[in-house]
Amino acid sequence: MCGIVGYVGEQNSAPILIDGLKRLEYRGYDSAGIGIICDGKIELVKEKGKVSVLEEKINGNDINGTTGIGHTRWATHGVPNQINAHPHFSSDNELMLVHNGIIENYKELKEFLLRKNYSFKSDTDTEVLVNLIHYFYSENLSLFEATRQALLKVNGTYGIAVLSRNNKERIVIAKNGSPLVIGLGKGENFIASDVNALISHTKNVIYLEDGEIGEITKDSYYIKSLNNDSIEKEVNKIEMDLDEITKSGYQHFMLKEIMDQPNSLNDTIRGRTILEEGISKLGGLQGFEERILQSKRIIISACGTSWHAALVGEYLLEKCTGIPVEVEYASEFRYRNPIISSEDTIIFISQSGETADTLAALKEAKRKGALVLGIVNVVGSSIARASDAGVYIHAGPEIGVASTKAFTSQIAVLILIALLLGRRKNLSIVDGKEIIQSLNSISDLVQEVLEQNSVIEKIAEKFVNAKNFLYLGRGIHFPVALEGALKLKEISYIHAEGYPAAEMKHGPIALIDENMPTVFIAPKDAIYEKVISNIEEVKARNGEVIAIIDKDDKYIENLVDHVIRIPRTNELLMPILTVIPLQLLAYHIAVKKGLNVDQPRNLAKSVTVE
Ligand code: GLU
Repeated sequence: MCGIVGYVGEQNSAPILIDGLKRLEYRGYDSAGIGIICDGKIELVKEKGKVSVLEEKINGNDINGTTGIGHTRWATHGVPNQINAHPHFSSDNELMLVHNGIIENYKELKEFLLRKNYSFKSDTDTEVLVNLIHYFYSENLSLFEATRQALLKVNGTYGIAVLSRNNKERIVIAKNGSPLVIGLGKGENFIASDVNALISHTKNVIYLEDGEIGEITKDSYYIKSLNNDSIEKEVNKIEMDLDEITKSGYQHFMLKEIMDQPNSLNDTIRGRTILEEGISKLGGLQGFEERILQSKRIIISACGTSWHAALVGEYLLEKCTGIPVEVEYASEFRYRNPIISSEDTIIFISQSGETADTLAALKEAKRKGALVLGIVNVVGSSIARASDAGVYIHAGPEIGVASTKAFTSQIAVLILIALLLGRRKNLSIVDGKEIIQSLNSISDLVQEVLEQNSVIEKIAEKFVNAKNFLYLGRGIHFPVALEGALKLKEISYIHAEGYPAAEMKHGPIALIDENMPTVFIAPKDAIYEKVISNIEEVKARNGEVIAIIDKDDKYIENLVDHVIRIPRTNELLMPILTVIPLQLLAYHIAVKKGLNVDQPRNLAKSVTVE
């Protein structure tokens, strides 16, 4: 995680860096800081807490310089305080560094540097790296060369930007495992962890790849490999507008993104179906269909909310293709030496396309010869580039730390993949057409669910003081129960668990009493009757029940305390509708508790550390 920015040009860099940090704040908000070259030294301002705290501090200071770097932190090594905040100086204040990632061998490097009389102020791994660069720099190497030499000694992940007080108009950058992009301007250049921080300045960007190191000045740049070979890079055009990354009048990004789902789902689905044939067309998978269909097994691997989408995907793909599907946490998968062969297809899902655990699992799967597919939101992200083939979800930028619209778009893409493959396997043309017709009307149905917002807000009021919650669903709605519980935990800090409803009697039922609200996802599907029995079991123990039910369901209404009504669609698309009330419920409970829903404590959006 962590966001890094840098500027070299003609303008005063402080406001540009602060603006960039605000746009990257979703990546971490433990502390923020900037360093700017002024009159032969580097001025440093850093503070614990949000970028706004840093901004206030800077407003009182006269820091004026045209080259600078900035950082917003998600702490990995050392508590979130002012001393551990980035940027970090070398011992003698000559060099300064911002870093996103983890230097894994920092302990041995630190011991080496201590023996060379370097001293350290912070507990971070980052301060070791800046001093290691200094060690080489003091041997009369250029800043670029010193950084390159130091990185050859480093194990771990990094996106870095380095300043030297004697190189007034120069920033050295490097990437391995954490994202970094250069923005090209006229008479000015920028660097940032992602394009959100750049689009108000330029649309021309260069994505760095792992193992690349470069240097920018106000009107030039070059990029090399760590082995010192020159690399020609392509300049990409950013498609996104500034409007897409502002709140557009909503109180929070999360609410804006929940409300955006009719549009984001349209963007995911548009132009990707052929109704007459009852099939989808996915340019990103073209030429790979046969190989996927011949796979002995499909594995879907992801973390967090994307892992819940993967569980929905398991259900969809098995039903439509008959190919066995397994779902794996990327973080576990990569470390247990999984049995993978060239007969496997492995789908990796990540909103940001930068999730470190998922990316590492992907590389491992590729090494073992599997066909590797990516489902990501951020175009040009590391997972998109490292996959053999894949599908963008096109949900638009998701800034709120708790994922909402990316989840529903991930499910929509999994449905499209199930359709593409299923039509050559278990799915009839009639079924295929029916799914497409349902996809074509899904955004109207999502709109209908969103119109329940005020009903859900009223229900939320009653649960502001709840300490625990249980979410229960069966079949394709079990992952939705997990996702509902995760949303509540993430932003309201209420302990919540998701369970398959039938499992309740094997343990969690012991928790049920009048203080343990239970949310049931209970649309009228094949196991509706069974879910009703589970509701009765909770009611028999004085549990308070909120149920997500079909809009014409009269039976459950009389059984439970609160209902949220949703329309019906094809069974495979139902999770898109059932999850939305859970997103809104978590949102309203957190807002009513006075919490910062866009930046919940201890979390960050793009988990680029392991
Ligand atoms: N390891 C660095 C620190 O803890 C950077 C953390 C990160 O990128 O998340 O300060």
